Amino acid sequence: MLILTSPSEMQEWSRHALRHKNDIGFVPTMGALHAGHATLLQHCVKNNSASVLSIFVNPTQFNVAEDFDKYPRTFEHDLRIAEQNNIDVVYAPSVDVMYPSGSSVVVHPGTASERMEGAMRPGHFEGVTTVVSKLFNAVLPNRAYFGKKDFQQLAVIQQMVKDLNFPIDIIGVETAREPDGLAMSSRNVRLTPENRDAATSISEGLFAARSKHQSGEHNSQVLSDLVVSRISQHDAANIEYVDICDPLDLRTIPDTSAGAVICVAAWFGDVRLIDNVELGPA
Ligand code: AMP
Repeated sequence: MLILTSPSEMQEWSRHALRHKNDIGFVPTMGALHAGHATLLQHCVKNNSASVLSIFVNPTQFNVAEDFDKYPRTFEHDLRIAEQNNIDVVYAPSVDVMYPSGSSVVVHPGTASERMEGAMRPGHFEGVTTVVSKLFNAVLPNRAYFGKKDFQQLAVIQQMVKDLNFPIDIIGVETAREPDGLAMSSRNVRLTPENRDAATSISEGLFAARSKHQSGEHNSQVLSDLVVSRISQHDAANIEYVDICDPLDLRTIPDTSAGAVICVAAWFGDVRLIDNVELGPA
């Protein structure tokens, strides 16, 4: 497994791989890899003859500098996971290499970025679209894998790739969950034992709403009330939003019969968690 740290080295490797008829699959991450990331790596390795994982904690997508400083960094552990999953290249540029002094061009995210995470975390998606564009230009992938756990991020990237004509297939991978339903996240380890138990109310609420939708209740307000009531049974929980949206452009919809996604952000103590569930067309 190679570890590369500059865009020019990365591009050279990718051009060589492409000339030799490989197709390149790419999984961008911020490291601190867990079993959720591993499912992305497995999809990538299975469907591409060459696979690249990037590990880069991107300062421009954190709207609070302290969160960037506190973000877990587990590089040696991440390399082991990459190796176990047969990744060919780990691309791990430094912040200075990614953003040399004087760099000023950014990629403005589209309409899918406006609400939910975009509203709560100003600048977050501009950081994401800019860094993902830079990573795409270094890795030159045919396919890139993103988790549905960050559903809005996936929608923002799909919109960017379409609008800017990136020749890359974007593939959404199902959310990996703990046995009790909690979506896997590098933030889960920061939950207190009590809040870790209470946090299962997010997926319980989402799954309960999905069952209601499947049994014929398509009123968004009724479904979101159900999610809110499940989560707010816990005193420690502080809901930021429960939104029911169109799965492509993420505008709010009052009725779920044509299909929808329910997105949640909630705090448990000082840990902010997000999750979502897709509702198929009735
Ligand atoms: P991050 O390192 O948190 O930026 O995540 C890197 C990629 O892993 C993103 O595409 C995430 O959506 C994805 N991811 C994170 N957690 C999960 C999960 N529990 N299941 C599936 N994908 C995930």
